[in-house]
Amino acid sequence: MLQIPILENHPLAPLTTWKIGGPAAHLAAPQDLEEVFGLMRLAYDRGWPLFFLGRGSNILIADAGLPGLTLHLAKSLQKIERQGETLRVGAGVALPRLARQAAVLGFSGFEFLAGIPGTVGAAVRLNAGAEGGNLAGVLRRVWVATPQLQMLEFTVQELALGYRSSLLLNFPHWLVVEAEFALQTPAPPPVIEARMRQLLAARKARFPANPRSCGSVFRNPPGGSAAGALIDQAGFKGRRAGEAQVSRKHANFILNQGHATAAQVKALITEIQENIWRTRGVALEREVVFLPDDLGG
Ligand SMILES: Cc1cc2nc3c(=O)[nH]c(=O)nc-3n(C[C@H](O)[C@H](O)[C@H](O)COP(=O)(O)OP(=O)(O)OC[C@H]3O[C@@H](n4cnc5c(N)ncnc54)[C@H](O)[C@@H]3O)c2cc1C
Repeated sequence: MLQIPILENHPLAPLTTWKIGGPAAHLAAPQDLEEVFGLMRLAYDRGWPLFFLGRGSNILIADAGLPGLTLHLAKSLQKIERQGETLRVGAGVALPRLARQAAVLGFSGFEFLAGIPGTVGAAVRLNAGAEGGNLAGVLRRVWVATPQLQMLEFTVQELALGYRSSLLLNFPHWLVVEAEFALQTPAPPPVIEARMRQLLAARKARFPANPRSCGSVFRNPPGGSAAGALIDQAGFKGRRAGEAQVSRKHANFILNQGHATAAQVKALITEIQENIWRTRGVALEREVVFLPDDLGG
């Protein structure tokens, strides 16, 4: 018997950085792998669709909310364990915590994670990156739970990490449960910490002050200009749909300026995509995930 509390009709907006979206029909926060599997089995038995939510920093939840069961992982799977020259890290660990831990241990290469407000599991899924670094530089392998309750192990080569992409994007029903990182570049902790402070200051100067966003909405298209530059050149800075607004500081950010709805954010995203396609012939691809829309059947 599962002993985990399952909350019904629970608001999800506060669990996301955009603060947008309706409630979860059922929400649970598994503490360990056994509870993860128990909840996955429950969803399967009841025919509930299953959703994963980390720190909600790359997600737009529909105004109607999510049916089925949502697993909230931001406080689950929190282990960080050194094993020789590697770190085994639970999928729910926050990226800034991982960066700090590597610094304390005296290993460089993780500094770029200090400003990314997500979890390890979601970051692996799309090879999160910043300031010229990405997970491919430090990741060794990951463990994934499938809806059939199998555990799969992938090396970093098998994950085929690319720019904001990995094999895992093809399997949205797979849950990343753990990752192994390489501790390969020793450096004095004060040097690493100074580098992190420098990167954080650079981000602060570039990004909007309003924290209610999902970071970059679109991936940068291959080759030419960055998505933000294309959107800026098309005159979208400051454009609103209700209380959703394209940032005046960084055009690849859409801000919730009050009580924006998912419908308003989607309207802005569609307007931008149509405009950039028509005027520049570039198909801007979303980085942010729409739930439940992007999960299909
Ligand atoms: C201000 C700001 C700045 C940002 N800057 C950057 C940046 O510099 N670089 C960058 O790459 N990203 C950036 N992001 C985006 C975001 O932080 C990353 O994409 C992060 O990896 C998302 O983690 P999360 O836990 O919040 O995921 P969520 O938003 O909760 O989920 C995102 C997707 O991952 C899925 N998911 C969540 N956990 C798991 C899991 N364990 N296994 C499988 N799937 C899972 C969800 O179902 C969803 O589809 C930024 C966001 C914000 C708000």
